[in-house]
Amino acid sequence: MLTDMQIAIIGGDARQLEVVRKLTELDAKLSLVGFEQLDHAFTGASKEKIEDLDFSQLDAIILPVAGTTADGHVDTIFSNEKIKLLEEMVEKTPQHCTIFSGITNPYLQNIIDNTKRRHVLLFSRDDVAIYNSIPTVEGTIMMAIQHTDITIHGSNVTVLGLGRVGMSVARTFHLLGAKVKVGARKPEHIARVTEMGLTPFHLDDLANMVSDTDILINTIPHLVVTAKVIAKLPVNTLIIDLASKPGGTDFRYAEKRGVKALLAPSLPGIVAPKTAGAILANVLSQLLEEVYENRKEQS
Ligand code: NAP
Repeated sequence: MLTDMQIAIIGGDARQLEVVRKLTELDAKLSLVGFEQLDHAFTGASKEKIEDLDFSQLDAIILPVAGTTADGHVDTIFSNEKIKLLEEMVEKTPQHCTIFSGITNPYLQNIIDNTKRRHVLLFSRDDVAIYNSIPTVEGTIMMAIQHTDITIHGSNVTVLGLGRVGMSVARTFHLLGAKVKVGARKPEHIARVTEMGLTPFHLDDLANMVSDTDILINTIPHLVVTAKVIAKLPVNTLIIDLASKPGGTDFRYAEKRGVKALLAPSLPGIVAPKTAGAILANVLSQLLEEVYENRKEQS
């Protein structure tokens, strides 16, 4: 149980509702910031504005999966108000206050470094990233169906990256009957792609491997789908870029060439917020128990 724990949930999408549900069940006291338009009321949770939040009482801050935007704003789908996380706010929290987000960025990292608070990146955990790849793949399939006039079965799909998301994407499109090639840079990834019965290639050869691609799915959070690569794609190729913002595609050049390229962030929150939220809620409740124990030991 998290009785008497004071937690601020700042911003987010429908996934956070599962987190709120779980943490109120565990008896935590929640301050919900950026949830003005949420009709549902949760016992033990109160809606607050960020300027009214008493940061000195917080044991934990839960940010959306993306953390903040590049300029420090916290996105929310439940409010039109702009919410900005400032260093001076985090500075006011007790030393043991732990900050949770899915991923980080230079703005958030700078606050963490300066305030020396503990920061847990949920998506750097393999278990969370692998569970989360399930709704991500389902969202990718949805996008492929919506934005092409061909079946996935029999289509030529090129997947870039064989990390937690890339592996799930490659395997699922293969199981749906697509002819899947996977671009990676590590010899062990090339070996794994071969073992999976798919066609591997080294990313250095990317531009030479895409001339028959119907759907290009990128999971690498670096610019890999360059103008040189896009120039070799058939113009009716669909690029689905799953990598975190700004993605790994030269979107300007894709538009210039008439190749449809879609940056598709936060698919789990769009296609399966309940499942994706439950994944986060489960791990958060375990991690918050640890913060709770630490607080008890320190007091
Ligand atoms: P991951 O396990 O770290 O995999 C990343 C992959 O990118 C690995 O294969 C890695 O290969 C490769 N890579 C990284 N930097 C590279 C570079 N400079 N050049 C070539 N290859 C490089 O990450 P993940 O969990 O699969 O997530 C992948 C991306 O999807 C992340 O940006 C994540 O935030 C995003 N994501 C998006 C959604 C969505 O809904 N759109 C959902 C979940 C995750 P090496 O091992 O060789 O480094």
